[in-house]
Amino acid sequence: MDCDLPYYLDIVDFLPDATFVVDSRRRIVAWNKALEELTGIKKDTLIGAGDYAYAVPFYGERRPVLVDFVFWEDRKNEIHYKLVERKSNHIFGEAFSPHLYGGKGAHLACTAAPILDDKGNLIGAIQSIRDISRCAQTENELRLSEERFSRAFRASPNMMSISYLDDHAIIDVNDVFLQTVGRAREEVIGKKITDLGLWLDPAERDRIVASIDENAGIRNVEIVFRDKSGGDRHGLFSAEIIEIHSRKCLLGIINDVTDRVHCDREMARLDRLYLVGEMAATIAHEIRNPLTNILGFTEILKTESQDAANSSYFDYIIEELHHANSIVEEFLFLARSKPLVLKKQNINDILQAIAPLIKASSVHDKKSVEFELNEIEEIPLDEKEIRQLVLNLARNGLEAMPPGGVLTIRTFMNHQDVVLEVIDRGPGIPPEALDKLGTPFFTTKENGTGLGLAVCYNIADRHKAEIKVKTGRQGTTFFIIFKQA
Ligand code: ADP
Ligand code: MG
Repeated sequence: MDCDLPYYLDIVDFLPDATFVVDSRRRIVAWNKALEELTGIKKDTLIGAGDYAYAVPFYGERRPVLVDFVFWEDRKNEIHYKLVERKSNHIFGEAFSPHLYGGKGAHLACTAAPILDDKGNLIGAIQSIRDISRCAQTENELRLSEERFSRAFRASPNMMSISYLDDHAIIDVNDVFLQTVGRAREEVIGKKITDLGLWLDPAERDRIVASIDENAGIRNVEIVFRDKSGGDRHGLFSAEIIEIHSRKCLLGIINDVTDRVHCDREMARLDRLYLVGEMAATIAHEIRNPLTNILGFTEILKTESQDAANSSYFDYIIEELHHANSIVEEFLFLARSKPLVLKKQNINDILQAIAPLIKASSVHDKKSVEFELNEIEEIPLDEKEIRQLVLNLARNGLEAMPPGGVLTIRTFMNHQDVVLEVIDRGPGIPPEALDKLGTPFFTTKENGTGLGLAVCYNIADRHKAEIKVKTGRQGTTFFIIFKQA
């Protein structure tokens, strides 16, 4: 044993941390009580032992530990520590010892330091060891739960954001959020969430946020928000108050249910359409036969009647009967009684064929019709139905405009889709009517049937075409998009 060291040794025994001391040849000269407790190895069996004997209780083999690093300058790799840091002449390191506690193992934080004599010569070294397993475990769990949260946050199909509760500054948002608002992450972080234009009414957000119960948060509040294109979208807003760096933050989640809302509406419309279709089938058949009979007999009566004075009445009756018949025909469209006869053809040809008819009806009211027929592809169409569709839309457009108004009928290609547009310069459709368009019997006209658009939607459906409406004070445009996907 090196005789320069003894005055340390007694003190070492009382240190609360597990500690051992080696001499300049790295033989064990002290192994304190705390270390005996930690390893279960008594000091008597180890004092004087060299050749890395101190590593055996920890690793089950002889190998360098932190204390050896005191003697080496550059053999860091030979010490299997997770982290080794040198601060002045102290060395800190963390390692996992698989042998402690009967093989359960423990995370250790170690400190090693040189022992120098008066002249500054290295005469030994000391290492203390602390079991940090519990700290390491909670730290690890915390890291894992943070990692799990962050993964859920990033991958969520819902829009998610975290912002400070007091000044609304955004801390983080996920990709879906960025896609919806159409901005890059750098443009958003640090901005006020209320400045993004996401909320139609920022005051509404304030009201909802103010109503949040700190313990329970809020769930699925229906909101309308605005996306990057300025379109209104329906969402379910949920929020939770969380604390980050002891500052209150709001974790906001918006579940975009726009498609579902539209789908529900569409289903309701189809439901009504179906009901009317059923009704129409029965009524149309019941009425058509007597009507045809009346028409036939009236025509016979007219030819047999010599009375010229009555002839104009007969004409009137026959005209009215034809009108009644045409209403029945419209009903029949809804009844889907006719099978679709699809033939590959060009809509422009159909439009050219009915152009005189539309023009004639417009001249009557001092209005005019313009056609702008661009080159388009042939697609499968039922000519009779497309005629009906265009006539109904043109009639509505003409009826919406005051005398002098010009109706435009346009065709063009949009990517692969053929698009038919009917554009009027009327007063537009008020929002409350917009939702009801296509609902059978919805009309704002004194003599309207409210069936024209229902028929149009029906025909579009059968052609797998989509009807879109753009309306404003400058007029209304109906788009019929024949999807070719
Ligand atoms: P009707 O023409 O018999 O009223 P429609 O189903 O064709 O029935 O139209 C339903 C309603 O939709 C109309 O009464 C009108 O209020 C509205 N509408 C349809 N097309 C237009 C248009 N181009 N401009 C303004 N309103 C329209
Ligand atoms: Mg109409």
